[in-house]
Amino acid sequence: MSNSSNFYNQSKIYLSMAGFLYNEGKDFFPLLKESYRAELLNLQLKSFESPIKSMAEIVNSTNKNSGSCSKCKELNGLQMSFEDAIEKMPIPIKNCERSVSFNRCTSFYHIKFLRDEDGMLIFKNEND
Ligand SMILES: [Zn+2]
Repeated sequence: MSNSSNFYNQSKIYLSMAGFLYNEGKDFFPLLKESYRAELLNLQLKSFESPIKSMAEIVNSTNKNSGSCSKCKELNGLQMSFEDAIEKMPIPIKNCERSVSFNRCTSFYHIKFLRDEDGMLIFKNEND
């Protein structure tokens, strides 16, 4: 099994553990955060492996049924290095206005491949 699928599985395991704590009425936030962290590590690995430059980006769902609260919406489109994202963990946010529900807002980390002003993907330099 590759490291990537390890992180992916870790993320799913933490998420289901967080769901279990939520159902028990216990503090699930630390495990929810670990789930997001594992997903970030998964994306960071993909970023390392790709020949194209990339960053972490926070994406909010615009689905009508699962729109975001104003606090989560503020973070939509925020881009940072994977190192920064893993250190600062901007999402999940504790004061999400929909945090009465375990599902919260649909915010997640995404891998953003960088493009130049002509819209062309930017390849890594050999000395990067
Ligand atoms: Zn929210």
